[in-house]
Amino acid sequence: MAKKVAVIGSGASGLAAMKCCLDEGLQPVCFEKGTDIGGLWNFREDALPGFASVYRSTVINTSKEMSSYSDFPIPKEYPNFMHHSWVIKYFRLYADNFGLIKHIRFRHHVDHVKPREDFSQTGQWDVTYTNEKKGNTSTEIFDAVMVCTGHHVYPNYPRDSFPGIDHFQGKTLHSHDYKDQRGFENKRVVVIGIGNSGGDIAVELSRHAKQVYLSTRRGAWIHDRVSDHGLPFDIAKSSRFQRTTFGWLPLSLRLKLIHDRLNQRFDHALYGLQPEHHFFSQNPTVNDDMPNRIMTGSLIVKPNIKRFTETGVVFEDDTVEDGVDAVVFATGYRFDFPFIDESVMKVKNNQVDLYKYVFPPNLDPPTLSIIGLVQPLGSVMPISEMQSRWATRVFKGVDRLPSQDAMCDDIRQKAAAMSRRYYSSPRHTIQVEYTPYMDELAGQIGVKPDFKRLFLSDPRLAMEVYFGPCTPYQYRLVGPGAWEGAGQAIRTQWDRITFPTKTRPVKVPAGARAKSGGMPPGILKLLVLLVLVVAILFTF
Ligand code: NAP
Repeated sequence: MAKKVAVIGSGASGLAAMKCCLDEGLQPVCFEKGTDIGGLWNFREDALPGFASVYRSTVINTSKEMSSYSDFPIPKEYPNFMHHSWVIKYFRLYADNFGLIKHIRFRHHVDHVKPREDFSQTGQWDVTYTNEKKGNTSTEIFDAVMVCTGHHVYPNYPRDSFPGIDHFQGKTLHSHDYKDQRGFENKRVVVIGIGNSGGDIAVELSRHAKQVYLSTRRGAWIHDRVSDHGLPFDIAKSSRFQRTTFGWLPLSLRLKLIHDRLNQRFDHALYGLQPEHHFFSQNPTVNDDMPNRIMTGSLIVKPNIKRFTETGVVFEDDTVEDGVDAVVFATGYRFDFPFIDESVMKVKNNQVDLYKYVFPPNLDPPTLSIIGLVQPLGSVMPISEMQSRWATRVFKGVDRLPSQDAMCDDIRQKAAAMSRRYYSSPRHTIQVEYTPYMDELAGQIGVKPDFKRLFLSDPRLAMEVYFGPCTPYQYRLVGPGAWEGAGQAIRTQWDRITFPTKTRPVKVPAGARAKSGGMPPGILKLLVLLVLVVAILFTF
């Protein structure tokens, strides 16, 4: 009989987890406490405690080709940067295509996940849940558990760090509870925090409020979605070729190039945003409109708040704004898994020990995985899918984890690397970079693209894999779960990228070529090709 896997949550990660269970011949049973799929991306008019949900205007900040599940490209008609309504539409297509809905129990809340007494022999779990439709609670045995609850459920709401807040007469709320500009028209608003929520909300409100102040204790480098030649930045800048060549440069030079480029768009010092840390030390804030809003004066950047008065705020530079009507705390989230038995794992101050951010290292056998907890520089969808591919194979016993000591070593090394790179903040405990992390997990399963083989069998495709954007389909070319459509998905990726904007016929002058972002000129490609040929000849 197929092993039964409890999948907790049916958002971006839970959908991928179910699909991967089915691929590996496991039986998923998904517990979803809401009434629909999509998790965070399932927009709700009202913010409910315990549920993550986007605001009305949220647009994803990774492009569609980089956000696809690896064997199900997002259709060409979809915009490159999707509003949440397109993201949810894609999830529905995915769920329908792979027959996922019938595996979901909606309005089922998981209360407790606990290893059974004979866990060391069976690896089994008692999952206790409440059926909220019927109001009854049951316990069921599962062979494995995939926790797919994300990290946007519990607001980090540090009111206590702000003296005087209890006497402030205006409105205060967390970005978790923000939906749109309604209620803020003509008001004077302070937004605290310059992550992606703070940036989005401050910009949106600046179009409707009387005045918006964006308060940041550190500043930030602001990155836009649209890059060279109007291409999505993660398409223009994500090729393996670019990563390798850029990686050869000394860090100081890389940083100079990036900072110069960002300052060319607008001078971060002139706009009061320049941080003391460098670009790589902070989770990037992606915002297309912020400099425009600052330029119009409707958005004013301020330092951290020193204290609240009854009617306003005093900033750390001792400037005062009186007559403040509302303060939005866009101060991020803390993650937690209150339903997982304490003997399995503990979260403290957003720190948790997980092997490659997936497996608690002390579990033997390893039959519980955390999917999609990471905060990637890149899209989480393909990453959750890759984690699920790995986890389901570990549950089956076809892939094995190293010893507990080796896993703990890996965890320590990753934590040390993270604290060298990022400034210390609870928002920087689960950071991963898309390509290195995908490659690392792909290496565990045996699905990393094999360039030598690919080059010998299909040199054109090999060139696109190396010089083109590092799209998720690359991880379906070989190995377990290889998809026969992967090559074609890679060959046609530029058609899907360019389709949504080529909405009016334009006469291109003879000889002119469509730009393809990060693709180097032909001569350089030839040179790299030559190096590859020599490398292959020497290896065989
Ligand atoms: P976040 O990235 O954690 O940013 C929180 C901000 O609040 C930071 O600027 C942080 O400053 C500041 N902060 C925290 N505690 C503070 C305190 N006590 N006093 C003053 N400032 C404080 O949170 P987020 O912006 O809500 O984003 C959460 C996740 O959702 C991220 O992964 C983000 O990329 C994602 N997101 C995506 C979109 C989109 O796709 N369009 C939109 C919104 C959010 P420090 O840096 O100094 O700690």
